Amino acid sequence: MTHTPFTHKQILPGATIGVLGGGQLGRMFAMAARRMGYRVHTFSPESDTPTGQISDLEITAAYDDHAALLAFADAVDVVSIEFENIPATTLDFINERVPVRPASGVLHTTQHRLREKSFLQAAGFPVVPHERVSSIEELRDALHKLGAPCVLKTAGWGYDGKGQRVIRDAVELNKETESAFTALGGECVLEKFIDFERELSVVAARALSGEFAHYGVVENSHRQHILDYTLAPADVEESVARRAIEIARSVLEQLDVVGVLCVEFFLAKSGELFVNELAPRPHNSGHWTIDASVTSQFEQQLRAVCGLPLGSTEMLRPAAMVNLLGDLWQGGEPDWAACCRASNVKLHLYGKQTARPGRKMGHLTALAATAPEALRLARAARDNLIGKTT
Ligand code: ADP
Ligand code: MG
Repeated sequence: MTHTPFTHKQILPGATIGVLGGGQLGRMFAMAARRMGYRVHTFSPESDTPTGQISDLEITAAYDDHAALLAFADAVDVVSIEFENIPATTLDFINERVPVRPASGVLHTTQHRLREKSFLQAAGFPVVPHERVSSIEELRDALHKLGAPCVLKTAGWGYDGKGQRVIRDAVELNKETESAFTALGGECVLEKFIDFERELSVVAARALSGEFAHYGVVENSHRQHILDYTLAPADVEESVARRAIEIARSVLEQLDVVGVLCVEFFLAKSGELFVNELAPRPHNSGHWTIDASVTSQFEQQLRAVCGLPLGSTEMLRPAAMVNLLGDLWQGGEPDWAACCRASNVKLHLYGKQTARPGRKMGHLTALAATAPEALRLARAARDNLIGKTT
């Protein structure tokens, strides 16, 4: 790792922020940066990306195109990421010229499920029972050892449930195991399926100074392994919330994170808390902070990567966020006017041209006296998009 004298210089409005990746997380980060008077350059292999649309400059090149990376690095003051599957070697290359936050080591650990779980285990955090599998024989042994049901996941490159397959019972062992493994291919991890009570997450941030801030514990509900909604705050016991936040604090410290990181948890029916996975960036379960917190997770990311003090994470009102997936486009363009009739629901769209089932196209956030009430409002507005009556 390179340690250069620029490490502690504060990067102030007027400076240019580089973003690796072109998705919606980069878009909302770029919006926060531009609002505060920064310029934004995006680097990703695609063009007309959600982030690029909001940026001063969109560079379209491969993550191993050294000439393009050099030009990108030389025109910005700091670089951040919006997607954890950027090759760590790309970050190392850029970090020779300009600081990259979070550092490549954070991505190296968190972009690979086995490395991530080893880190968590070594640090004493509770992880889901799992086994590394790289052949059909190992898969059979692991399934036998852990006992069905299990979830088979690719070790690298998975997101939004991609690269995952549930193996429900031992009968499937013979019929489907081979095809599941062949379909995913390569190095995988087999995890025990947790019959959880709830899924929770903590979005937290760490500044260059080591200052820590968190947005409390939120509750997440997934459909087909993709986030459907988030309730903020989560309705959990104080002791569970305290433990989740302490784990998050410790993860950010031990990984020496500069920026935002999300810890996803399973709360088992027994009350046991397991870390599911880490995301070293703003997270879908923190989108509600744009409308319901003093400082959004995106502004927080900006403050952290610029070496500024963190902003207040105070929640203005309880909130709920519902995702708008491409499935909503199946019957044609959703009815935006109907959705906007809900005067207290905020519409966020990511500028994606093609709607595919499971693709994150946008989200809605509602604020109310309680998070469940906010969820009711947000869901009703989503139903209105497709003329569904609740
Ligand atoms: P991604 O990187 O796609 O977010 P996750 O590992 O977080 O992958 O899995 C996505 C979702 O799938 C989880 O939030 C959860 O709802 C479900 N899931 C994944 N692993 C398990 C498991 N071991 N037990 C029960 N549900 C799981
Ligand atoms: Mg996840």
